[in-house]
Amino acid sequence: MQTPVTLTPLDFMFYGRHMNTRTLPSKLFKYFLWMCKMITKIVALLIGREVFKYKRAKARTQKLARQEAQRRMNEFVSIASHELKTPLTSIKGNIQLMGRRLKSSTNETHSVETQQLLAEARELLDRTDQQVGRLTSLVNSLLETSRINANTMDLLFEVCDLNSLLQEVVKDPRSISAKRTLHINISEDKNIIVMADIGRIKQVILHYLSNAHKYSAIECPIKIHLREEGSMAYVSVSDEGPGIPIGEHKHIWERFYRVSSIDVLNSSEVGLGLGLHISRTIVEQHHGRVGVQSIPGQGSMFWFTLPLFQEK
Ligand code: ADP
Repeated sequence: MQTPVTLTPLDFMFYGRHMNTRTLPSKLFKYFLWMCKMITKIVALLIGREVFKYKRAKARTQKLARQEAQRRMNEFVSIASHELKTPLTSIKGNIQLMGRRLKSSTNETHSVETQQLLAEARELLDRTDQQVGRLTSLVNSLLETSRINANTMDLLFEVCDLNSLLQEVVKDPRSISAKRTLHINISEDKNIIVMADIGRIKQVILHYLSNAHKYSAIECPIKIHLREEGSMAYVSVSDEGPGIPIGEHKHIWERFYRVSSIDVLNSSEVGLGLGLHISRTIVEQHHGRVGVQSIPGQGSMFWFTLPLFQEK
């Protein structure tokens, strides 16, 4: 019985002449098979390497294309918002001027017809003013995001009592519709001191409040809560609106992101999906954190924290 022989290229090179000629064809065949296997492996390796190189180059090109598209979008947003801001300011100024003229002209004695015309003009002007206000707030949001991108959002830090700030916000009739019930959970006699840009933090609170109002039915109350949590101040705004699907929680903070399945119930304002992005940037620049707890069908609670002021 012949013992199977495994032939390597070295065997073949050095001992080929002395090999048994009867077993040679089968050995040659094995050697041929072995060579085929090796060549296949090498070719597979080479192909694999080329595929890897191609995929890497493709990923790099796609990344560069994405960065370029992002850069162009930022540039567009920045130019468009700056260009829109100037005529809007002038329109606003003209509306105010016109309003004052109309007001003063009503004091004079006019015919009933003229009085009617003036009243109509005043009403139209008021409506135009409201629309210009909406447009201005959209343009301001766009300007804010371009400032965020360019890292030019300036903050003016000062010592601030969050308690007083919240009281001031909720007492201001412009903060929220008078038809809405607000439940405020703030201990009035306790100062909660933080170092903050007051205007910016107010902007975050107002944005949380305006979203709660915008997305929940008018008869549902909104709750505001302020407390200390360790070394942080904690502010939350809760509503009984539609709630946000879990998968969307991390996306809603992204620029221009809106949840298509959530309808605006109480505002004529079109959102651009910028408010939460701006709010997160503001809070993070204060070394705080933002978050949301929300269950579809039950409501949402948006919160943020800020480090408490530590006197050294
Ligand atoms: P927008 O101006 O569109 O409201 P935001 O950045 O404030 O932009 O919010 C992003 C998206 O998150 C909204 O379009 C909405 O779908 C969802 N959202 C925000 N707040 C709430 C809320 N209180 N209840 C339900 N959905 C909300």
